[in-house]
Amino acid sequence: MEAANNEEARLAEMRRLNAELDKSAKLLIRRDLELGRASEKLKQVDKMKSEFVSLVTHQLRTPLSGIKWSLSILLNGDVGPLSPEQRAYLSKTYESNERMIALINDLLQADRLESGIERFTLAPTPLEPLARKVIDDLQPLAMRKKIRIELKTLGEVSPIMADASGLSMVLQNIIDNAIKYSPQGSLVTVTLKETGAKTEIAVEDHGIGIPSEAQPRIFGRFFRARNALLADAVGSGLGLYIAAEILRKHNGDIRFESGENNGTIFTISLPTKDA
Ligand code: ADP
Repeated sequence: MEAANNEEARLAEMRRLNAELDKSAKLLIRRDLELGRASEKLKQVDKMKSEFVSLVTHQLRTPLSGIKWSLSILLNGDVGPLSPEQRAYLSKTYESNERMIALINDLLQADRLESGIERFTLAPTPLEPLARKVIDDLQPLAMRKKIRIELKTLGEVSPIMADASGLSMVLQNIIDNAIKYSPQGSLVTVTLKETGAKTEIAVEDHGIGIPSEAQPRIFGRFFRARNALLADAVGSGLGLYIAAEILRKHNGDIRFESGENNGTIFTISLPTKDA
């Protein structure tokens, strides 16, 4: 009699558990559907944001290019000589316009990376000529601050699998920062080296450094450390974000060592070809 009662109680308990499981399963299915719908909506919103950024940036680029063109004509003296004061004001306007163009380009680039529009084609790329070209392009900026950029290759460095223009952009952002955040007359060293499975590019400067409280955030979008803002160096806070995103798509990464007023070393690391 007691055994039959126990059996009945167990069965009742099982039926109750079953019903609960059934309820949970239905709830899960409903949540899954809701999440699916929410994710679809987010994707749509993200697409709209991308389209908006792309539209606005493209629309802004055209008039900015027009302004650049007109200012160049005036600065070249093509429509008559300028007084030193006029030249000084026009040069300042030209620089501000250049900054705006750079910001628009950064915004566009960040959006292209996020939305996956930007596709990279990896091909064997020799590093030394690539680094040399980026350094040459940045020479006018470095010369204005009397900064010397030295390129060193330690031992044999084989070509790596990379998208040359993507990797140039990474290096350009890092060396540009090294110049921007360094004092007049200092040295920036770019070192290439291959160590087994990794090929590394290190960029060392003797500049303002990155304060410890800012270090966890410097790869975030639009982040700029307080000493960078005080240094009066212009920037969008997008350069490192873009660099890290491009490297992620190369299966590479970027790290740094820095201390406030103690200079900075950024090290880009990429897989060695055939390693
Ligand atoms: P920005 O346009 O401000 O240079 P980045 O994304 O390139 O933007 O860099 C983010 C921030 O990281 C900078 O604002 C600065 O605070 C810091 N930083 C980057 N590189 C250096 C460097 N070489 N020396 C000192 N601070 C740096």
